[in-house]
Amino acid sequence: MSDTLTDKYCVIGNPIAHSKSPQIHAAYAVATHQNISYERCLAPLDGFEATVRRLIAEGYRGANVTVPFKLEAFQLATRLLDRARAAGAVNTLVFDDGEIIGDNTDGPGLVADIVRNAGVPLAGKRILMLGAGGAARGAMLPLLLEQPRELVIANRTLATAEALARDFPDYAERIAVRGFAEVEGVFDVVINATSASLSADVPPIPPSVFCQDTLALDMMYGNKPTVFMEFAAGHGARVRDGLGMLVEQAAEAFAIWRGVRPDTADLLKSMRQ
Ligand code: NDP
Repeated sequence: MSDTLTDKYCVIGNPIAHSKSPQIHAAYAVATHQNISYERCLAPLDGFEATVRRLIAEGYRGANVTVPFKLEAFQLATRLLDRARAAGAVNTLVFDDGEIIGDNTDGPGLVADIVRNAGVPLAGKRILMLGAGGAARGAMLPLLLEQPRELVIANRTLATAEALARDFPDYAERIAVRGFAEVEGVFDVVINATSASLSADVPPIPPSVFCQDTLALDMMYGNKPTVFMEFAAGHGARVRDGLGMLVEQAAEAFAIWRGVRPDTADLLKSMRQ
């Protein structure tokens, strides 16, 4: 009987050894009594499609996709969910009866972490998003669906931010584009979606964007606060790293695959310890 079989999932990337996804999905499977396996899958840089085809042939039910394959996953999908189309990238695949369904749970994970875990509703708020790369693009539609008053995109390369804004014409009156130094006013939420923290850089925004009611979230996470988090905290903001986003995007993927949404609070607490 099929319910006595273990359904197989994995995360595909290169490199992949660092991925926390197997730990997260194993915890969700235990908590929701789901009989699944979830492992790391290292795909050759020129072998993403072949890897997916092999997984399907081996009976896998789905996969997460991480760096550098999210764009290839987008192209390979035979059906795309709206939020994957808006993101231009896919981080969750469902293998279903010959179809490869592509979704993107990164943005919904970010929003869930801000709204549910940090307790900051976004309706009517001013949001500043730093960066205009893949992670920023994936966050756009889920953030805009929360009905913020304004979403300002600030990026090192202005043209990239302008191109990103143009892809959301239905929300044009709520979106503004600025260079880092030109950002004005105080924000309720500041999201660092640049990879500047990787090189211990802070985007050169005015410190006046922060106040004590501001939530400053760096999508990056590690063993200690990022330089962006230190900068924001130094100017009075409440800070948060990207671990909650990671845990929430995984919960969303798990819910898509298994039809049951795991509770994230205990896992996030234990991972922070
Ligand atoms: P991309 O390479 O697509 O985009 C990088 C962005 O960062 C661009 O906007 C780029 O600006 C900007 N940037 C890079 N270096 C600097 C710098 N020194 N100063 C200012 N801006 C800089 O990366 P991603 O969008 O995929 O990832 C961004 C971050 O989000 C990474 O740290 C990644 O780890 C994190 N992330 C976290 C997730 C989570 O679950 N927590 C999920 C996905 C991503 P320009 O256009 O000028 O080049």
